[in-house]
Amino acid sequence: MKKLTERTKRLSPSMTLAISAMYKELVREGKDAINFSVGEPDFNTPEHICEAAIDAINDGFTRYTTASGIPELKEAICKKLKEENDLDYTPKNIIVGTGAKQPLFNAFLALCEEGDEVLVPSPYWVSYSEMIKVTDATPVYIDSAEENDFKVKIEDLEAAITPNTKCLIFNSPSNPTGTVYTREELSAIADLAVKHDFYIISDEIYEKLIYDGEHVSLASFNDEVKKLTVVINGMSKAYAMTGWRIGYAAASEEIIGAMNKLQGHSTSNPTSFVQKGALAALEGSDESVDAMREQFVKRRDFMVETINNIPNISCRKPGGAFYVMMNIKELMGEEIKGKIINNSMDFALHLLETAHVATVPGSAFGIEGFVRLSYAASMEEIAEGLNRIKEFVS
Ligand code: PMP
Ligand code: GLU
Repeated sequence: MKKLTERTKRLSPSMTLAISAMYKELVREGKDAINFSVGEPDFNTPEHICEAAIDAINDGFTRYTTASGIPELKEAICKKLKEENDLDYTPKNIIVGTGAKQPLFNAFLALCEEGDEVLVPSPYWVSYSEMIKVTDATPVYIDSAEENDFKVKIEDLEAAITPNTKCLIFNSPSNPTGTVYTREELSAIADLAVKHDFYIISDEIYEKLIYDGEHVSLASFNDEVKKLTVVINGMSKAYAMTGWRIGYAAASEEIIGAMNKLQGHSTSNPTSFVQKGALAALEGSDESVDAMREQFVKRRDFMVETINNIPNISCRKPGGAFYVMMNIKELMGEEIKGKIINNSMDFALHLLETAHVATVPGSAFGIEGFVRLSYAASMEEIAEGLNRIKEFVS
């Protein structure tokens, strides 16, 4: 039999999705498991969004749409970008895709190829490295320190630039660290891109989940950086719409044109009636988003305080998203419940097996000595999960 491609052989499976699948399997077996793994709001999608999609189905809005998305949704996206992010775009600068993942994937495919280097601040979201590998470009990781709130230093970014640097993938608020960069820090990064002429893919999917600080879009500093930037955003996190699979990108007509060709030959339009739901989300009030954010901030504070009161583990207080990076360095090499814990994967798997608490090992995000906990879970689940972690590590 002929062999599969090298391209797929060098990819790792998505660890966030793999651990989440293990959690679901435990639940299926009847185990009382707690899920701190996948980053997914536990709230229901707001009713007015569901109703808009149901109405669309009932009205027969069930056929192909323009591959890049329906015009009224693209217009609503332009309005949002103008009002909330100070960005001027026309519908020709917009592509709507299947989740934020697909526009991200297509942006990498449009911008990067063999020989190109992509700057990746680390720790990074699992899928960036693998998407870059699919394009045959090379990810160049720039480490950040916990003491610096997991922010990359501008001098470290600059030191990593070579003539082959094609692109920077940037994510604030960040998955997995929850780090929110300041306006000044972002401005310096924008200047760097203009000075060295590389593209930025700016993944802003957690913009509405900021508890300390403000969201500033990297493309908003000036026209030069705007031309170099692909803004990625989506409905999954802000509107609790993970299963709907809808997101979008905004960029120059040239970049959107290239992404549109890829989309036209792969998935075509995102689901027709889902686009109507997304339109309702953007046009409706953000009351439900505000209510979710209020809950998230309480959960964050509770999780951070509880972790820091447990011996041998600790964490920083992140400014956004719904993740905490829990430092487990003191436990490395220690025996816990009959097993020596040598790395974050050992910790996460043993915790899942013995205490039925699902977390994601730092190694999935390019960092050791940490596991990521999502606090997109109820207060009761957070309290119970952290109790089990306390029992596990003590
Ligand atoms: N970017 C980041 C940083 C994420 O955490 C996620 C979560 N899945 C995505 C993109 C993709 O989001 P979506 O579910 O809209 O594809
Ligand atoms: N982005 C979320 C996470 O990191 C969802 C899962 C995924 O798509 O990776 O957990």
